[in-house]
Amino acid sequence: MPMQGRILRANDPDYDEHRRSFNGMLDRRPAAVALVESVEDVLAAMDVARAEDLRIAVRGGGHSVAGHGLLDDGLVIDLRRMRGVEIDPATRRARVQGGATWEDFDNAAQAHGLAVTGGTFVDTGVGGLALGGGIGFLLGSQGLTCDNIVGAQLVTADGALREVNAETDPDLLWALRGGGGNFGIATRLDFTVHHVGAMCGDSVLLGLGDGSVIGQLARVMAKAPDTFVALAYVANREEFGPSVSIHIASLADEESTRPLYDEILRDARVIRAGFRPLTYAEILNEQGGQAAGQRAQAMLRPLLSQSGNDPVFQQRYARASELAGDSVRASEAYAEAAFLGGRPEQALIQLQALKRNPALDYVGRARVDARIESITPTVLELRRQGVQDPDLDRR
Ligand SMILES: Cc1cc2nc3c(=O)[nH]c(=O)nc-3n(C[C@H](O)[C@H](O)[C@H](O)COP(=O)(O)OP(=O)(O)OC[C@H]3O[C@@H](n4cnc5c(N)ncnc54)[C@H](O)[C@@H]3O)c2cc1C
Repeated sequence: MPMQGRILRANDPDYDEHRRSFNGMLDRRPAAVALVESVEDVLAAMDVARAEDLRIAVRGGGHSVAGHGLLDDGLVIDLRRMRGVEIDPATRRARVQGGATWEDFDNAAQAHGLAVTGGTFVDTGVGGLALGGGIGFLLGSQGLTCDNIVGAQLVTADGALREVNAETDPDLLWALRGGGGNFGIATRLDFTVHHVGAMCGDSVLLGLGDGSVIGQLARVMAKAPDTFVALAYVANREEFGPSVSIHIASLADEESTRPLYDEILRDARVIRAGFRPLTYAEILNEQGGQAAGQRAQAMLRPLLSQSGNDPVFQQRYARASELAGDSVRASEAYAEAAFLGGRPEQALIQLQALKRNPALDYVGRARVDARIESITPTVLELRRQGVQDPDLDRR
C-alpha cells in the first residue's frame, strides 16, 4: 500500500530537520524517516522496514531524552502528524492518536472540565509518557497515566493491527500499562478521563540552606491527602544559589490546603511564593508548561499594536517571530519578547539559560553572547535603581 505521508532518505533536503533530537547531544542518522499520517501509513512503513530489513524506532512526541525515538541506520516511524484527540464527556473516555502531545490532549479534555494525570510540560508526547508510566499533578487522585489506559489500537511487530482492551486482549493491555513502546506502535490510546474542578497551589522557590526544607516537605507529604501533590526540583541556580522549586497542586479547597502549604514554607528562606486559586491549565503553565515559542508568540502579539512604526522594534519583532518556530532557539525569541515588553532582567536570565543548551549552534551562541552583552547594562542600571521585574518568577 503506498504511503500518504513522506519517507525521507539521507539525500532529502528535509532529512536533517527530521532526524534532529530533542536532546541536542544526540546525533543519530536513520536510514529513513517515515512521516506517517494515518494507520495505513504506519502499516505501509512497517512493510518498508520488512522489505529493506530495517530496525524500527517509534517517535511519538519526540521528548525522549535518551533518544529512544531515533536510531542509526534503521527506520524512524514518526507519528507527530497523528495528533487527533476525541473526548466523549458522557462516558468520560478519550481517544488519542499516537503522536499527540499533552497540549493536544489537555486542551481537548479541559474544554469539558476533564483531564487525566499527564505531563507537566505540555509539549511532551502522550505516547511515550503514558506507555512508560506517567507522573504529573493529578497523580495522587488519578494514579499514574498508564493506570488510566483502557484500550489501544496497536500495530504489533508481525504487522497486524489490533484493537486491544480488557475484553479482547487483557494481557497486552496489562503490558501497555507501563511496558513502554516494547509491545507495538500505539496508533491510538484510549483513556478514562476525570472531572477536574477548581484547584489551588503555587510554584514556590525556597533557598536550600542545610537541606532541612526537604525534610519538612517529606513530613508534610507523609500526612497530606491524595489530592495534594508536590513536585520538587533541586538546582544550583545562578541567580539564587542552591534552591528548591516546589510545584504544589491541590484539588481540595484553599482553606484546607493552606495549612499544609504554610507548613512546607515554615522556617524556609522564601525566594518566591504566591499561594492562590488556579485552574489545572494555569498550574501547567506555572510549571513552564507552555513551550517557549508559544510563550514568546503570546507576549509578542499585543506588543505589535503598541509599537507604532518603530523600525528597530519591527525588525526585532520579525526576528523573534521567526525564532519562535525553532525548538532550540525559541527561548531566544522569548528573551526578545521579554526585552521588547520592558522586562530586560527576564530576557537576560532566559539568554543565560539558552547559552547552556548544548543544541545551540556556533552562530546562535555568538548571537546570544552579543545580546547578553547589549542587555546587561540595562539590567544593571535597573538593579541599581532598585527596579524589580514583577514577572521574573513566571519565566
Ligand atoms: C521536558 C520534559 C518534561 C517531562 N515531563 C514529564 C512528566 O511530567 N511526567 C512524566 O511522567 N514524564 C515526563 N517526561 C519524560 C517523558 O515522559 C519521556 O521522555 C517519554 O518517553 C516522552 O515521550 P514522547 O512520546 O514525547 O517521546 P518519544 O521520544 O517520541 O518516544 C519515546 C519512546 O516512547 C515510545 N513511544 C512513544 N510514542 C509511542 C507510540 N504512540 N506507540 C508506541 N511507542 C511509543 C517509543 O518507544 C519511543 O521510542 C518529561 C520529559 C521531558 C524531556
